[in-house]
Parts: sequence; C-alpha cells; structure tokens
Amino acid sequence: MSAEILGGKRVADELRHRLSKQAAKFLRCYGRAPRLDVVLVGDDPASKLYVGMKGKACAKVGLDSVQHNLKAGVSRAAVLDLVKKLNQDKRVDGILVQLPLPGKHSEEEVIQSIDPGKDADGLHYLNTGRLWSGSEGTMPCTPAGIMEILDYYKCELKGKRAVIIGRSNIVGKPMAAMLLRRHATVTFCHTRTVDLKKEARSADLLIVAAGQPAMVGKGWVKRGAVVVDVGSHKVNDKVIGDVDFPSVVKQAKAITPVPGGVGPMTITMLLANTVKLAFARAKAK
Ligand code: NAD
Repeated sequence: MSAEILGGKRVADELRHRLSKQAAKFLRCYGRAPRLDVVLVGDDPASKLYVGMKGKACAKVGLDSVQHNLKAGVSRAAVLDLVKKLNQDKRVDGILVQLPLPGKHSEEEVIQSIDPGKDADGLHYLNTGRLWSGSEGTMPCTPAGIMEILDYYKCELKGKRAVIIGRSNIVGKPMAAMLLRRHATVTFCHTRTVDLKKEARSADLLIVAAGQPAMVGKGWVKRGAVVVDVGSHKVNDKVIGDVDFPSVVKQAKAITPVPGGVGPMTITMLLANTVKLAFARAKAK
C-alpha cells in the first residue's frame, strides 16, 4: 500500500485563484486593493526571506503590501507606536508582525497591541478566544491551511481520533480547536507526554508539529491513518519534515509531503485572512 499524497500546492493555487477574483472585486467596489502591512524588526535572514515571500504573494493575487523595517535595537515604544499608527490608518486592512522578535521585545505585548480587526495572523487573544468559543474570527494561518487541505481531499474528521504532537500557540493549540469544532476527538502530545509513540499509534489523524526532523517513523503510525507533517527542516540541502516520509508513506492512508504539503498553504491563508478582513472592515463602515 502507498498513501495518497495530500499535495498543498494544488489547494493553494486554487484558493489563490479565488482570492485574486475577490481582490479584483474589492478594488471595483472600494477603489483600492486590500492591503497587508508587515512589520519586520531586525535583520534575521529567515524572517527577511519570509517577509519577502509574503510581499510577492500579495502582489501575485492583487493585494497591496507595505513592509516596515525597524532596526533590531529599536525601542519598545517605537514598535508599539508603529502598530498604533497602522491600527489607526484607514487604508490598512491587515497587520502582521514577523516573529520571532529580536532581543528584549515582548512578542505578547506587540501582538496584543494589534487591532483584533486587523490581526492577519489570528494571534490576538480576542481571535484565539473566538476560535475556542466556536465563533467567527481570524484563524492562525498554518492550522487553517491544514483544514483546507483536509477538506480539499475529503478527509473525514467527525468522530475521528486526532492526535497532535506539539502545543505551540501558532500551530498545535489552534489546530486542536479547529479539529474540535469539526467533531474530532483530540489529544495533545508534547515533550512531557508519556509513551508518545503509543499515543501517535492510536491516531486516525496524526498531526506532527514538533520541530524534530524525521521524528515520526513507521512504527508510530496506525495502518490507514492520515498523517499531516507540519515540520520543515533543511538537512544536507534537502527540505524534510517531522515525519520520515519514505517509511510512513507505506503505512498511512494519506500523507502531506514536505516540501509541497502544509508549507504552500500558510502564506495562502495569510492572503485569505487579509481579504476577509478587508471586506469585513469595508462592510462595517
Ligand atoms: P515550537 O517549537 O513552537 O513547538 C514545538 C512543539 O512540539 C512544542 O509544543 C513541544 O512541546 C513539542 N515537541 C518538541 N519536541 C518534541 C518531542 N521530541 N516530543 C514531543 N513533543 C515535542 O514549533 P512550531 O512553531 O509549532 O513549529 C513546529 C514545526 O512546524 C517546526 O518544524 C516549524 O518549522 C514548522 N512550521 C512550519 C510551517 C509551515 O508553514 N510549513 C509553519 C509553522 C511551523
């Protein structure tokens, strides 16, 4: 048996096509494109790369994007002041502060200073609360992208046993909330979980977001399970995930590849969040 490959590129391309139509409609209705403002503090090469990719992705679907570069040593007040200005600027629909922030800056303080109605990453507590309460809000991009992939390939979620390895605020926790909303029975695993392998093997749907290259092997996966690999690591010039793909592909019913699985969906959901926020703000006026 070899698993169905749940490619994310196809899902991302189709969604981006729909988003470009929505962006064009927004432009027709309101005389401007939806706009995402990205704040980059410092000069971390990976952060610079991600911010550049986000800008290019915006342009491709017809969104405006503005990048704000601040020096690593900038004061706390200057970062908060910039976010405040963007909150007040009527032309700005979405705000994203690229994480991690360098040095002394409190990510929590900066993220919570973003207007929840412009929170393109869905990390403000109001949006987190909405997600866990089952009401409408902006959702974090990576798990929202995973839900799009699971729905695109018609993976059954209701009543299924979902096991998530990882409990970060950007992936593991919101992933659990989204799966709960869809009636899965959800278990969290983390560094202190006793017998992680046994927990993983009980999953109908295994989501791996631990940040450990090729940690999950064949013996961790129940035959016929659906496996989603969130990990992304450059090892010997190759990008690999948290799952040992060559062995698990023979055991699983379906699996997301790395690269080309979850990755392409994350930025796509950022675009989707920005378009949604733009329409919501325009309609509220
Ligand atoms: P994180 O480091 O914030 O969290 C990792 C979580 O995994 C923690 O909750 C930790 O308890 C758990 N964990 C770590 N090692 C473990 C182990 N040995 N056993 C059990 N649990 C363990 O990471 P994150 O931000 O959630 O990202 C996870 C992975 O997903 C990383 O590889 C990251 O690069 C990748 N990622 C990819 C995308 C994408 O778009 N492709 C987006 C976000 C994150």
